[in-house]
Amino acid sequence: MPWKGEKNPYLIWLSEIILQQTRVAQGLPYFERFKAAYPTIVDLANAPEDEILKLWEGLGYYSRARNLHFTAKDIRDNHGGIFPVEYEDILKLKGVGTYTAAAIASFAYGLPYAVLDGNVFRVLSRYFGIKEPIDTTTGKKIFAKLSQELLAKKRPADYNQAIMDFGATQCVPANPNCKICPLVKSCTAQKEDLINQLPFKSKKLKRRSRFFHYLIINYGNEIWIRKRTEKDIWQGLYEFPLLETEKLLDRKTLERNKEYQGIIPPEAGITRFSTPFSQQLTHQKINALFVEITVEKPLGEAPEDWVNISREDLKTYAFPRIIDLYLQDKSLYLNF
Ligand code: SF4
Repeated sequence: MPWKGEKNPYLIWLSEIILQQTRVAQGLPYFERFKAAYPTIVDLANAPEDEILKLWEGLGYYSRARNLHFTAKDIRDNHGGIFPVEYEDILKLKGVGTYTAAAIASFAYGLPYAVLDGNVFRVLSRYFGIKEPIDTTTGKKIFAKLSQELLAKKRPADYNQAIMDFGATQCVPANPNCKICPLVKSCTAQKEDLINQLPFKSKKLKRRSRFFHYLIINYGNEIWIRKRTEKDIWQGLYEFPLLETEKLLDRKTLERNKEYQGIIPPEAGITRFSTPFSQQLTHQKINALFVEITVEKPLGEAPEDWVNISREDLKTYAFPRIIDLYLQDKSLYLNF
């Protein structure tokens, strides 16, 4: 991994933000692209947000990209373009939590702060047999105290890298090969047969289902899109005009829907109605239908935030993954 052994705090921060909730294999090309496009934090700060979101497209959790930009501008404007060097100052940056702050402080500056990510939680809970859930305030405090005590103060960067690598390659989430583990003789989870139970979590994740109907309104070579500005998923990305309902509607029910009738002129025809697409987010499952509609004249009263663009220009905007999936589906591809 190109960021291993890296001492540049900007590149460490960039890699850590990209890798939050993302697998290394998926995040790696994004890291390379960002590094090439914005070699310094000031280059990132000076870039337009739409450009950053376009480069981030497909990586998900877009608040990370917006925080990345916000923090780059903050460092440019309030820290003279120099990354903070104290742990407390790093922790104050937007989008930076205790894990990322400890990673930057130890890897870039050799400061004695222990990292605590999913890998470390797993290794510690299994090795010491800690049954306190890792997602409670008490649990987090116990693990934070323990990991800080265990930290090799003279070589914090090596220690942090080693324990994370150990969790990622040896003490893996499912079926670790304990027979070859150097810690097998003193591992509590191994002794008490708790490997598959630890670490404990208190909450089961609840996911809400949402039902989107994207209206792809074609007028000649033109099409309407809008920017998602509301505080919701995919803020800052673009989408087609959206009709959200309590469940997915069939074509006839959709045509009878009051809101749909308020947007689409009665003489306009639905030319295609997609099969359902879905995208799983951490707390939500998005179910979407794409409805292609042809209108013979420009929409009279399109809402203010709708933008009328040519179809060829669609590729210059950043869309959520579910819309990209639709656009890439050759059988349902718009006629570019
Ligand atoms: S013995 Fe198994 S559970 Fe214990 S630390 Fe090693 S790999 Fe993890």
